[in-house]
Amino acid sequence: MIKAKGYAAQSAKSNLAPWNFQRREVGPHDVQFDILFCGVCHSDLHQVKDEWGGSIFPMVPGHELVGKVIKVGEHVKKYKAGDLVGVGCMVDSCRTCDNCKEGLEQFCSNGNIMTYNGYEKDKKTPTYGGYSNTIVVNEDFVLRVSEKLNLAAVAPLLCAGITTYSPLRHWKVGKGHKLGVVGLGGLGHMAVKFGASFGAEVTVLSSSAKKKEDAFKLGAHKFVVTSDEEQFKNVTGYFDFILDTVSAKHDYNSYLTLLKANGVHICVGAPPAPAEISAFNLIMQRRSLAGSLIGGIPETQEMLDYCAEHNIVSEIELIDIKDINTAYERMLKSDVRYRFVIDIATL
Ligand code: NAP
Ligand code: ZN
Ligand code: ZN
Repeated sequence: MIKAKGYAAQSAKSNLAPWNFQRREVGPHDVQFDILFCGVCHSDLHQVKDEWGGSIFPMVPGHELVGKVIKVGEHVKKYKAGDLVGVGCMVDSCRTCDNCKEGLEQFCSNGNIMTYNGYEKDKKTPTYGGYSNTIVVNEDFVLRVSEKLNLAAVAPLLCAGITTYSPLRHWKVGKGHKLGVVGLGGLGHMAVKFGASFGAEVTVLSSSAKKKEDAFKLGAHKFVVTSDEEQFKNVTGYFDFILDTVSAKHDYNSYLTLLKANGVHICVGAPPAPAEISAFNLIMQRRSLAGSLIGGIPETQEMLDYCAEHNIVSEIELIDIKDINTAYERMLKSDVRYRFVIDIATL
């Protein structure tokens, strides 16, 4: 076994603290890389606090990993020592179901293996994420990362990036479309960058006016303060698509009224509590309420390559790992500009 160190939560009530654990030896198809940076996703916080239920402890969170390959197994073809690589939310899947065969491993019918808060194929060894110094992953779930971009700012692309890129591609959002992005946090700011890059008119819908200037810098064309009734009413029936990244309970009904006929409200934010929807808000203008989960491995590589080509990275605040608990507190107050990234060298 390989000795590893990281930060873990021992229970849903405990803060993250240093913890030593073990990784599997590098198998014939495995890549081992030293983690250099790891992004901090709001999903880490939901799972550490067991807000979605079923959390496995001790938990080493982190599913936005980038680093440098140090060792590869004898059958590994794609990578060699020294390569820059990344890993997102998944480290394996069944590979045989229809979804896996289509490159939609996130929808694996037999359950994919999540980077942390999951179990390996033996169904009993827990997986541990990227708030740690090293990891061993099957080469097919390792992504290639460009040498051209700021590596720390690439890390969030592995979840926040693909989670917003994928639905915008699926619904073919682009020129001629009006896109609303609800919530300007880690996911939201990437949605603004991709939406603008794909040619859509992007409006940020934010709970306060605090992030207005930033929104325009990120590429947004309009800004709506959702707590301002007048501003909210002004965009009734306005959008073709809304990408909803809000992490806490909110009323989907009011946002549905902002869609045109045939408009689609896409949920990527995953508030723990269920919501009530009035059927009339869907019926009246043939609107749809949809959802989207990260993206498959081929599309994640496509997104990383697109970002390298178009010089797209995340806006980050680099933190020491000892400050992770404070970062969580700030994330809960919507005070992230716009993704915390842990400098793993501080571990
Ligand atoms: P984040 O950085 O904390 O951003 C969430 C944003 O939502 C906040 O910055 C805030 O934006 C807004 N918000 C928060 N609480 C709100 C409230 N009570 N009412 C209205 N707006 C509120 O979080 P994130 O990392 O982007 O993640 C967002 C959500 O997506 C989380 O639930 C996460 O678990 C989920 N997620 C889903 C997937 C997927 O595959 N579907 C992948 C990753 C993450 P403003 O300040 O602009 O209002
Ligand atoms: Zn995430
Ligand atoms: Zn599968």
